[in-house]
Amino acid sequence: MPCARCNEPAVTLVRYSGQHLCAGHFCEFVERRVKREIHRQVEFRGGERIAVGLSGGKDSSTTTVLLHEVLAPRRDVEVLAITVDEGIASYRPEGIRFAKALCEGLGIEHHVVPYEETVGWTMDEVVAAEPAAIPCSYCGVFRRTTLNRAAREAGADYVATGLNLDDTAQSILMNIARGDVDKLARLGPHDHPQPGLVPRLQPLRTIPEKEVYLYAMLRGIPFHDGTCPHSERAQRGRFREILNRLEEDSPGTRHAIVAGYDRLRPLFAERFPPPELNECVACGEPTANLMCKACELQTRLGDRKAQADREPETVH
Ligand code: SF4
Ligand SMILES: [Zn+2]
Ligand SMILES: [Zn+2]
Repeated sequence: MPCARCNEPAVTLVRYSGQHLCAGHFCEFVERRVKREIHRQVEFRGGERIAVGLSGGKDSSTTTVLLHEVLAPRRDVEVLAITVDEGIASYRPEGIRFAKALCEGLGIEHHVVPYEETVGWTMDEVVAAEPAAIPCSYCGVFRRTTLNRAAREAGADYVATGLNLDDTAQSILMNIARGDVDKLARLGPHDHPQPGLVPRLQPLRTIPEKEVYLYAMLRGIPFHDGTCPHSERAQRGRFREILNRLEEDSPGTRHAIVAGYDRLRPLFAERFPPPELNECVACGEPTANLMCKACELQTRLGDRKAQADREPETVH
């Protein structure tokens, strides 16, 4: 099958647009949308530092490469990368290796920040202390706070994440299903910066996950293709399945969900404005409460550990 735009053989069918595209035109199709999204989310004034939260996986590696390329003509804007090390021994070291190699290849500044340094626990320790809990409910909170702090300390004006279209549509559905309107209102790139919180950029939010994968493969972007051992227990998996089925039946559903959400965002911002933030009494990070969620979780883990230490060992 030839490409819809030239005579080269097509490498993919973009189902939601009905177009077969060759490698060159497919890459151009991805790059055009990412570039538009970056400029839609930030108005560069010069002197900005953009930190990518780089795990070494396909999404964040592609985000790093594309931001680096899109911003290359602007010598007054700098791209750097921060890799949060969750402390998952069977998974994370390989991702860090890929992240380091990518940053060395691009010649950009790279920081590796272990959880332990900010929250005092590795994910392996969390799982051992709280075997019944869903690991991602700790990991997501710890990663967000670690990345935000590291970005602030690195003098970053924005944090870019590798969130793709599938992730975005899943988050919208998940928060609707939970009735969590406050969280729903705060999804997406930050339009209204808040003190202490480095604003987020999401350059891939209109690119489907499969397209990110194909793009990375076609461009030869090196990335870690592993899966976290805890990902199967993530609630997000159920929403991924539902969304994949909807997309299969009606191509374009993910785009429609995100586009519909974007039309509602101004109303959300008006009706559910972000809460005033204070400094957490324990760590100083921004929070709407007295204590931030990361410190709350650390306290809970500390209690569990103290309880386990007090209980006599069971004899089998
Ligand atoms: S799957 Fe869950 S535990 Fe694993 S890295 Fe992602 S958020 Fe953390
Ligand atoms: Zn073509
Ligand atoms: Zn705190």
